[in-house]
Parts: sequence; C-alpha cells; structure tokens
Amino acid sequence: MSEKIHLTALSKNELADFAENLGEPRFRAAQIFKGLHQRRLGSFEEMTDLPKTLREKLNKTATASTLKVESRFVSEDGTRRFLMKTRDNLPVETVFIPTENRDTICFSSQSGCPLKCDFCLTAKLGLLRNLTAGEIVEQIIVVLNDVYGTGAETPHGTNLVGMGAGEPFLNFENLIKALDIMSEADGLFIVPNRVTVSTAGIVPKIYEFARLEKRPHLAISLSAPNDELRDKLMPINRRWNIEELFAAAKEFEKSMRRGERFTFEYVLLGGVNDSDEQARALANLLNRYDLQRVKINLIPHNSAEPLEYKPTSWEQVERFQTILESKGVSAYVRRPRGRDIYAACGQLAAKDAPNLVQISG
Ligand code: SF4
Repeated sequence: MSEKIHLTALSKNELADFAENLGEPRFRAAQIFKGLHQRRLGSFEEMTDLPKTLREKLNKTATASTLKVESRFVSEDGTRRFLMKTRDNLPVETVFIPTENRDTICFSSQSGCPLKCDFCLTAKLGLLRNLTAGEIVEQIIVVLNDVYGTGAETPHGTNLVGMGAGEPFLNFENLIKALDIMSEADGLFIVPNRVTVSTAGIVPKIYEFARLEKRPHLAISLSAPNDELRDKLMPINRRWNIEELFAAAKEFEKSMRRGERFTFEYVLLGGVNDSDEQARALANLLNRYDLQRVKINLIPHNSAEPLEYKPTSWEQVERFQTILESKGVSAYVRRPRGRDIYAACGQLAAKDAPNLVQISG
C-alpha cells in the first residue's frame, strides 16, 4: 500500500487540488488548511466542521501528522527540548526557548547533517535525510501544542530560527516551502520577518536566498577569522572559502530591508578561536570587507561529550566582545539556554543528559 499523503506539507493550492481529486469542492481545502495550521489539529477526527464522509475519505488516503514525540525535556530556565521520530524512524530535534517578550522555536531542517563542523554533535550522525516541508512545519505545531495546548493562541507570538540539526540551505526547496506555508494568515501566521535561517556557508544558496521575494533573516556561522582555522573547524570552508563567503554576504547586504541586519555566528572554543589576537583578526576581516549591516553573535561553546572542546572563560568572552566593539564591530554574547538538557547550540544529538527532567516519554 502506498504511503498516506502528509497534508501538512501541502500549500493551499496543492490542498485544493487534493480535495478536487477526492471529488470534493475546492473550498474544503480552506477548512482543512485551517484545521491543520490554525487550529493545529493532529487528526481529521477532530475537524468536526468537515462532513463525516470526508473525514473518512481523508483517513483512508492522508495523514495530518507524522512526527512522534519520543521524549521531551524541560530545563530549569524553561527551555524545552523535543526528541521526535519521523515515520521512517529517524531522529528530529526541536527546541523551545521562552523569553519575556517572545518565544523562539529552533527547528531542524535535516535528520542528522552531512557537514562536518568539528564542534558539533549533530555532525557525528552524518546525513540521515532531508526533512520534508511537512516535517519542518509539524515541528512547530508539535511544540506550540505542547507548550500552549492544541490550537491555543500563543501569548506573545513566535520567532523561528533554523539552527537545529542540519544545514537548511542543503534542503532549500523544502525549507522555503515550509516557511511559505507557515506564513499564511489563516495558518500559523509566522511571517518571514520573524524567521532567521542559519547557514554554515553554502555560498550559491546565499545568493539565491537574497533574491527571494519574501525573505527571512540570514545568519552565517563563521567561527574562525581565517581560512586555515576555518578549514579545520568547518570543512565546508574548503569548498567555499572566507573570500567567497564574504563576497556573498556583501551581495546579500544589497537585498536587506531598512533597519535589517544579518548575523555572523561565532562559536567560542576555549584556546582554539577565542584569543585577543583572533578577536582583532576577526574585526579586521569584517572591516576589510566593509560589511556595514552585520553583527556578531558570540556563542560560548557548550561542553558536550564526546567533543573535546573546552568552554571559554566568561572573562575572555567579555574581552573578545570588547575588542570587537573597540574596532567598531557590533558584538553580542548569546546567553546559553537549556544547557542542562543538552538543548544548547552544538549539543543536539547528545544522547544522555544528566540532571534533566524528563516530562514525557
Ligand atoms: S553546526 Fe550545523 S551545519 Fe555544522 S555539522 Fe552541526 S548541524 Fe551541520
């Protein structure tokens, strides 16, 4: 028997075609779309505004949800980490990070990751496969339902960051389709302006991303001030080096809206890329390319076995930031969240998390 079609992956038009193929009027698609995305219902039985015969037809041919939450962990700081499985049993990780003003959901674009960033645990899995658009959207639905209850309004809106497992730009089409679906006003209504996508440096896709009409914000993971070190830490640099990356970033600047800035992420690794000299080299690099609308996010590395990197001391984190700022570069330190449940950057795919509170299994 062929696999049931996952309706969460369909755009409104595709859903209308699907309804028509079932012999239903196209307007049913609008009801189904709302049921899936606005009311965040995980089954057709719950869509009681649809005729029973249609619900039965849907059950035979389609599914509203495919991800299964295997476990979820809640951190002392309110961060929640979700470990899910796809229907072919592959891992998907999603993290919910509450702040006073807005919630952020960090979603994954691939199961595992083909890139081999040396400081990242997900890299150890290799690429298992690209996630479908429906699996990307469903991560957000699962998290919002878990935190607020099915279909309930989110009290202060949601930001998305594509910084979970995987390289989003290696799953470009599905990513963009998922973001389009999520931006619909009668759906999740998370508009591109509230989304940031982070790439390790897939240069041709940065140009393509810049040309998108409805474009989210961009972050680029840099983590080294020169090619020699970046080749080691982020082997994608051997394919597209810093010069090519910065040329793309420069071009991207031209596509930016008023007041928009893009981000270079810099994971600080104790004794590896966090010296005063490297801070100066980083500032010089940015100034050499005259990138005007960029900020640096400094991300103190999170220890995660079996990685051998050490964290940078807080004193040095602050020195690094001060040096950048003294050379005119805006630099921010990203406060680590969910460290105790291995939800922080570079820790996804950690298997055992000590001191965690498992709230479901
Ligand atoms: S840091 Fe991101 S791009 Fe690099 S290996 Fe990890 S998941 Fe992949």
